[in-house]
Amino acid sequence: MELHEVMRLISLIPDGYRSFEVSAHNVTRMFGIGPELQKEMLAQGLPAKRIGEQWHFAWSDAYNISRYMMLPSPFRRGMLAWPKILERARAGATLDFDIQFRVDCPEPCHDGKCDFQISTPILDASFRMDENEDRLICGIEATSSANEEAIPDDVQSLLAKYDHIFLMSLPHLLTWPVEMVLETSIGDCISLAQLLEAEGRRLGYETRHANGIIMTAPFSTRHHWTEFKIGSTWVPFDPFLFKALHRWQVLESDEWSVGYPATAMLRPICGSSTRPLEVTHQGTVVPMTLPTRMKVLNDPRRLGSCE
Ligand SMILES: [Zn+2]
Repeated sequence: MELHEVMRLISLIPDGYRSFEVSAHNVTRMFGIGPELQKEMLAQGLPAKRIGEQWHFAWSDAYNISRYMMLPSPFRRGMLAWPKILERARAGATLDFDIQFRVDCPEPCHDGKCDFQISTPILDASFRMDENEDRLICGIEATSSANEEAIPDDVQSLLAKYDHIFLMSLPHLLTWPVEMVLETSIGDCISLAQLLEAEGRRLGYETRHANGIIMTAPFSTRHHWTEFKIGSTWVPFDPFLFKALHRWQVLESDEWSVGYPATAMLRPICGSSTRPLEVTHQGTVVPMTLPTRMKVLNDPRRLGSCE
């Protein structure tokens, strides 16, 4: 996608909710957005703030530009590993994940103990947690494989009707109701999941919101999606993510339909809570990393294990 096309989508996100937390230097390092492109973004009217010597940008804007322009970044390198996981699971492998949630004290040596708080409970039974002086680490283990259920035709048709919608990252403070998705054709994973839940129920299916992670090595990603009860099984669907992965050329266009149930990668860990999973330190949200190790069990194609 060209910059002006991404800027059109970004212009649908109202001003006033952004916090300009990423410096020009980090925008290059984390998102692959170099100085020339940054100048162009400013020239095209992207909101930004001058702090000291450097322009600072909103995390969500940098993330959207980087993903839709397919710039080389740690995020993109991570995403390029996803199709391999889907392929292995579809070939019949069982995947074994060991996922950590790590948060470091952002200001070591402060007075008193670190006060880490989790925004929404992690419900998984294999949850374990240990707290060092200045780091919070939670861990879960999960085993997954591809879905075996046949997907009914009416569900497939429903999942295919959202090609015009764009999955975006939105500023942290902004809530985006389903009405805004319908009005603008953009949404974050929470609002898009809510749209699909409602539409699935209108078709007569039992649906639920899933708050969890996309499990991939070497890092997992927090995400929300929708689950449909098909027969006696809860099956995860995310046509918006699959469409985006096609737009970002992470998935080949005809190989994976938007109705593919990505059971092997999606793991609900906060039940149906629509509240994003975040950790605060002394009341302020701090960055979380999700280092993940993956083992491929009984791989029919003998592809071995990877991390
Ligand atoms: Zn601390």
